[in-house]
Amino acid sequence: MSGKKPMKKPASKPVKAVKAATAPAAAAAAPVKKRTVATPQTPRGMKDILPSEAKYWRAVRTAGERLAAAYGFEWIETPIVEETALFVRGVGKQTDIVEKEMFTFVDQGGDELALRPEATAAIARAYINHGMLNMPQPVKLFYHGPMFRHERPQAGRYRQFHQFGFETIGEQKPVVDAELIICVHRFFLDLGLQVKVEVNSIGTAADREQYREKLVAYYRQHRNVLCENCKVRLSKNPLRVLDCKEPGCEPLKQGAPQIVDVLSEDSKNHFMKVLEYLEDAEVPFELNPYLVRGLDYYSHTVFEAVFPAREGGSKSAAAAGGRYDGLIELLGGRPTPGAGFAIGLERTILEMKERQIIPLDESKPVVFLAQLGEPAKRKAFKIFDDLRRAGIPAAVAFSKDALKAQMEVANRMGVKYTLLIGQKEVLDGTIIIRDMEAGIQEMVDANKVTGEIAKKLVTAPLAPLTAPAPRDSVSEESSRKEGDSSG
Ligand code: ATP
Ligand code: MG
Repeated sequence: MSGKKPMKKPASKPVKAVKAATAPAAAAAAPVKKRTVATPQTPRGMKDILPSEAKYWRAVRTAGERLAAAYGFEWIETPIVEETALFVRGVGKQTDIVEKEMFTFVDQGGDELALRPEATAAIARAYINHGMLNMPQPVKLFYHGPMFRHERPQAGRYRQFHQFGFETIGEQKPVVDAELIICVHRFFLDLGLQVKVEVNSIGTAADREQYREKLVAYYRQHRNVLCENCKVRLSKNPLRVLDCKEPGCEPLKQGAPQIVDVLSEDSKNHFMKVLEYLEDAEVPFELNPYLVRGLDYYSHTVFEAVFPAREGGSKSAAAAGGRYDGLIELLGGRPTPGAGFAIGLERTILEMKERQIIPLDESKPVVFLAQLGEPAKRKAFKIFDDLRRAGIPAAVAFSKDALKAQMEVANRMGVKYTLLIGQKEVLDGTIIIRDMEAGIQEMVDANKVTGEIAKKLVTAPLAPLTAPAPRDSVSEESSRKEGDSSG
């Protein structure tokens, strides 16, 4: 590229300015009609993510990526646009997503394309396209990125939103389902969030065939109170009536037949095994016999992670997933089992804010370690490394000796706490924690200082093994928001 373009732009500006300047002369007699130029806005239901949000996005992605690495999931990225037919087939014609929510268009070449509403179908396509069947099974993949659904925008529901998801393809053992649910649970835990996992089994296609009959028979008796949509669903996709939130339909669910009662022995055993693993892994879960999930491709285990309801609010689905043993075949591949989940990142971030969990910015130290005298300097190396390994962003200036010079550095960095260790502290095995804003100092056991600092911070997701901080020990930013009624 030459420097021509940037040269052109400034040159064109004065021309415009001259034109504008001459205009009032001509219009002197008549009042000037003010031309307001409407500034384009983001499309409805879509939003900018500004730098002030960056720490939350970095936190959720870091939490997901660390978990993926630990459990052996590899990153995959598929296009944001796919053939519309992929989702019609892979998600299902009679789903909300395909019926009402897809952004579709015909491109200049006449191809029918869609902005992806979800990623599982695309990953299944990629699995087939790239012959991943020939790789050691199961193939474990993770992804993150924007999804698009034309929904009515509201808090936690957007037309462009982001998901972080895991998929395990090529293995049908129940341990796979359990591992995924455990990952979902740990993801939120690492961010300091509590979720409850709701699980159900929707069995095999044959199980569902039987169940469908029972369900239709039941709902037929109440046909007059069903919403118009459900009347149609009853003939096309009766399981989805269970998903309906309409005031007429929802209460009927309670009396509906339950799918567990028609599950085959094999399906039941599969499900039991999953639940046993969850118990052993201490994942809090609840059986929800009416959880069916809106998508067609699920089989056996289905689950949702929900945030606990807040006062006056309803519970919100944080993540959802399940087993999809029929999907690969549905898309033209060899019969191959699979399972996965997707986490809604906007809802996760919303929950972090509501719960006043402030992720730490890894690039910005919150602690400065000051050392006075040679013995303290020697001790400081270990303490500093303990802080680092605990995921606490810390800084130190080993080459400086004078306290004043070190405090200048600490001030410049704007750290929340300075740790002071001098001759006396080395002898006593203690260290001083100075709260830089409040000016308060306290003395703690040097061996426990990392834990003490971690307790003072809400360290998501850098110290994933620490429990979320109790509500009354939240850090500075959140205590300013006192009176927030989230609970
Ligand atoms: P819902 O019942 O809330 O419509 P869903 O069943 O359509 O959710 P999935 O397709 O299972 O959702 O997607 C998994 C997760 O993605 C959801 O649990 C939610 O956190 C998030 N999600 C889904 N749709 C949206 C949206 N329009 N805006 C923001 N997040 C969303
Ligand atoms: Mg939805």
